[in-house]
Order: sequence, then C-alpha cells, then structure tokens
Amino acid sequence: MSRRRQIYEGKAKVLFEGPEPGTIVQHFKDDASAFNNQKRGVITGKGVLNNRISEFLMLRLAEIGIPTHLLRRLNMREQLVREVEIIPLEVVVRNVAAGSLARRLAIPEGTALPRSIIEYHYKKDELGDPLVSEEHITAFGWASTREIDEIVQIALRVNDFLTGLFVGIKIRLIDFRLEFGRLHTDDDTQIVIADEISPDNCRLWDAQTNEKMDKDRFREDLGRVEEGYQEVARRLGILPEGGPADFRAPKAMQ
Ligand code: C5P
Repeated sequence: MSRRRQIYEGKAKVLFEGPEPGTIVQHFKDDASAFNNQKRGVITGKGVLNNRISEFLMLRLAEIGIPTHLLRRLNMREQLVREVEIIPLEVVVRNVAAGSLARRLAIPEGTALPRSIIEYHYKKDELGDPLVSEEHITAFGWASTREIDEIVQIALRVNDFLTGLFVGIKIRLIDFRLEFGRLHTDDDTQIVIADEISPDNCRLWDAQTNEKMDKDRFREDLGRVEEGYQEVARRLGILPEGGPADFRAPKAMQ
C-alpha cells in the first residue's frame, strides 16, 4: 500500500491515486461513524460487504444507463473509480419517514410519504451537513440549475429502480443518500453518481417484519449490526460461496 499515494481519508473510506491518470482506488474500511462523528465504532467485515454491495448496485444502475464513477472492483476491499469533481451536496431521497425527517417534523417513523421527497444537504462536516434549498445551491455556486435538474432526474430513476430491485428480495427502501460528481472529458462534462450505495447510506427494512438491516442498527445500538449487512448481501445473491466467513480475509489481502 506504501507505493500508492493517499489522497484522502474519510470516515469509512480511504482514497488512493489510481494506476492511470483520472482514476482513483476507493478502499472500504470497517470503521463506522454516526451523528456527525459523535458516535464511532467498527463493524467487522463492513468494508468488504459494502464494496461488494455498492459494486453490485452500481453495475445494475449502469446496465439501465445511469452513469456512475465505478470502473471495476479490484479486490475484497477496493474498487477502481473515475476521478470526478465532487459536488458538495448529499442528495437524500425519502419514501418513508425515518431518521432526521421523522425527528425534524415529528412524523412517526415508518409513515409512508405522500410522494418521494428529495432533500439537499450541504456537505460540510463542521456544520453537520445542514439542509439547504435549491436557492442556496445556485446562489453559492455549488451546482447550476441545469445540474440540479439532472441530479433530480437521476435520483428519481435510481429510487424507482432500487425500490423495485429491493422489493424483489423482500426489502423496503426507506431512504438513501447519493453523492454526485462532474466527470470531465475533453469535450464534455457529465454528472455521475459517486461515493457508494450500501447499507451505510440506505435505510433498508425487511418487508415482512420491518426489521432494520442498515446502519441504523449501529446508530440506534440495536445489535447484530454485521448480520444486517450480511443479510442484505445474502439476499442480493452476492455472499461468497463459503458464506460470511469468506468475507474475513487474511490481513494481507485486505
Ligand atoms: O439521517 P437522515 O434521516 O437525514 O438520513 C437520510 C439517509 O441518508 C439515510 O439513508 C442515511 O443513511 C443517509 N445519510 C448518509 N450520510 C449522512 C447522513 C445521512 O448516508 N451524512
């Protein structure tokens, strides 16, 4: 790992310079944080699971023409992605009230929303990723009106597609958060999905029992956190042959 230049270390991932210009290696850690870093912990095997789950979901999205930064998975914990200019927004799509929406507006968790709601949060840890409006985004130049239109179109397509994909494995997609980046080519700039799509940034409930299978198990101290992530991977059909044990790679492989 020493031969690679580290570009950035975040809460759940490390980014390294990729083998070719314009590429980045995204390394998934087991570290978990919540409530703007006030709660921290380790979810054993999470990095390996999220790498696989995010790869799977982004490949399915690419198949229906939704552009993402993913090039290919490299190993148990790493994937090669395109270098993009990150748009400083966390774009949240909600189908059912939960988390900060339920708290902010005193809506009981689990209430179906009359329609899907898109929220923008300014990506700024020091400020706790505050909720912002389209007015803020355009006034401060974080994205243009055209870019916001494209982001909304992509976010709603992702919501429809993933909602259906998860229904097929008896999981409810309650909400999720996307990040977007600008992919600059010689004569064009394209908006693509960046970061990851995994139980770290989606709320996923069992369709029959409403049991939580995502990072809320960690946030809310519900226990059996690893099992939640494993069950999502199992239902997606991407647990390796030997089952969860195979995810615990020897140190050298991680
Ligand atoms: O906490 P909140 O209800 O606003 O979260 C909405 C969705 O965005 C959840 O799926 C959560 O996992 C995700 N999220 C995230 N990163 C954050 C905040 C929320 O992925 N910093």
